Amino acid sequence: MPIYEYQCKDCGNEFEKLVPMSCDKIPECPKCQGSQVKKKISKTASSLSSGCSSCSSTSCSST
Ligand SMILES: [Zn+2]
Repeated sequence: MPIYEYQCKDCGNEFEKLVPMSCDKIPECPKCQGSQVKKKISKTASSLSSGCSSCSSTSCSST
């Protein structure tokens, strides 16, 4: 199961949630119960490369 990261637009709370593949529902914020929650990137394995968030790690290594 992939872990999705969400961020609440209302209170700015960030949280992670395990979501089954078949379920694509946006959860509500556990902090303020707001529904203004947007999904961030999913970190499935350990494929998160820090340092560059907007481009893939291969294309941003200049020099
Ligand atoms: Zn919230």
